[in-house]
Amino acid sequence: MDQSDVDKTLFSRIQGFFETDILLGKRVTVVGLGSGGSFAVVELARCGISHFNLIDYDILELHNVSRHVCGIRDVGRLKTDAVKDAILNINPQGDVSCFHANIVRDETVLHQTVRSSDIVLECTDSKHSKYRINQYCIRIWQEQGLKVPVIYGGAYERAFGGDIIRVIPGETPCYDCVLGAVQKLSFYDSMPQGKIDYSNIDKSGSFKAEPGLGLDVHFIALIQAKVGLLTLLRGSASKLEDIPYHFLMWGNRKEWIFKEPFKCIYANTEKREDCPTCGSGKDLLDQYGIDPKNVETEAEKLLQSLPKADLDVSKIYPV
Ligand SMILES: [Zn+2]
Repeated sequence: MDQSDVDKTLFSRIQGFFETDILLGKRVTVVGLGSGGSFAVVELARCGISHFNLIDYDILELHNVSRHVCGIRDVGRLKTDAVKDAILNINPQGDVSCFHANIVRDETVLHQTVRSSDIVLECTDSKHSKYRINQYCIRIWQEQGLKVPVIYGGAYERAFGGDIIRVIPGETPCYDCVLGAVQKLSFYDSMPQGKIDYSNIDKSGSFKAEPGLGLDVHFIALIQAKVGLLTLLRGSASKLEDIPYHFLMWGNRKEWIFKEPFKCIYANTEKREDCPTCGSGKDLLDQYGIDPKNVETEAEKLLQSLPKADLDVSKIYPV
């Protein structure tokens, strides 16, 4: 196939909604390339985005295939490498950097990726990861004025639904603010929760195998990718209208607060002045005497003060 034909034709079917040139220089960092993240990033490549940072520490296994964008030929490969090939299969001119890393343990990769990104998609099922990215992005905004929006996506139990949170530093409440507000809602405690099988928790605190249809996870991933695209197109002459909300709940099934299948509920929450991440952290100071600025040091001190248990870690996490 001639390269000039590829360049001319590749995105011809999406011209008219927005000038694809707007996306040419945009860089997207995706954290977590499981069933949701892999699907979301490939859809963004189909929209004309070429520059990606992919972060994941996992290998594609056979049981992943029924929900993942990559197939059986990729089993045994790093998810980053497999998804990179899936992107290049759509856009051979793509510029994709892979980071085989766990950002919960290694923040250096955030320095290498997030700062130069126009947007981040957080697609892991790890609360640790989500909080870490939130803290990092709020910090670089407060200290250096670097505004990097993050779209957080997550599925509920067995993917009966999920939610998407958009954080734009300086404009919206942070992830910590939103989650704190949502958890105080009267209906939140009645969310269906299955019995937790702790043998399914991996080293990062994530669940290894929450069952659920790929179809259901992909609905949530598609909304996350679309919110990401709308955020990148803000301020341009796009015909795709942005949504005036930063919190969306999607229901795949008639369950919990979703009265029918395929329901979307939108909301905006307020910035919390006592937010430990972006606010004064008043609660921490009042209740525990911990200065939010020193929370990591205080946590480390607390850990050091705990009695040492005689544990053989290799028996808990088989190598
Ligand atoms: Zn906050």
